[in-house]
Amino acid sequence: MKNFIIYVKQLEKKPLIFSETLEKDIVEREKGLPYLTEDISMTGKAELVGKNLLVRCSIKTAYNTTCARCLDTAEKEFLTDDFLVNIEITNQDIIDLTGYIREDIILGLPAVSLCKKNCKGLCPSCGMNLNKGSCDCSGCGEENDRWSKLDDFDIR
Ligand SMILES: [Zn+2]
Ligand SMILES: [Zn+2]
Repeated sequence: MKNFIIYVKQLEKKPLIFSETLEKDIVEREKGLPYLTEDISMTGKAELVGKNLLVRCSIKTAYNTTCARCLDTAEKEFLTDDFLVNIEITNQDIIDLTGYIREDIILGLPAVSLCKKNCKGLCPSCGMNLNKGSCDCSGCGEENDRWSKLDDFDIR
């Protein structure tokens, strides 16, 4: 579906347990940024608490990104287990959650990604992708040491 709509009246009797899928196109594809490759699955619960609509769910999709080290493309999973919105209901009959979901995904997509945690990157001298083998030129050894320090950081 293109919009994730909650009907407030429907929640007056009991909470809604849902498992829905939003089209990946709700997150616009922008040049140079990661983009979604799978539709967005949401599983969770919507309920009224006093005058507020409370929605908790998990969000799962996948995105395609360019590795910052080797420039290869890589597909990675996007998973949030703790999406939460709390919206005050004044006199709305319906609440569209699409924008909230979109925002959560956009904020959650990493600006810098690696194809894998210990990507070896490109040889600075000859440009060979060192994940696919080593080259014969002299630049590679030192360069690998430099990257291996970065492996201690948790870059997704
Ligand atoms: Zn890489
Ligand atoms: Zn080389």
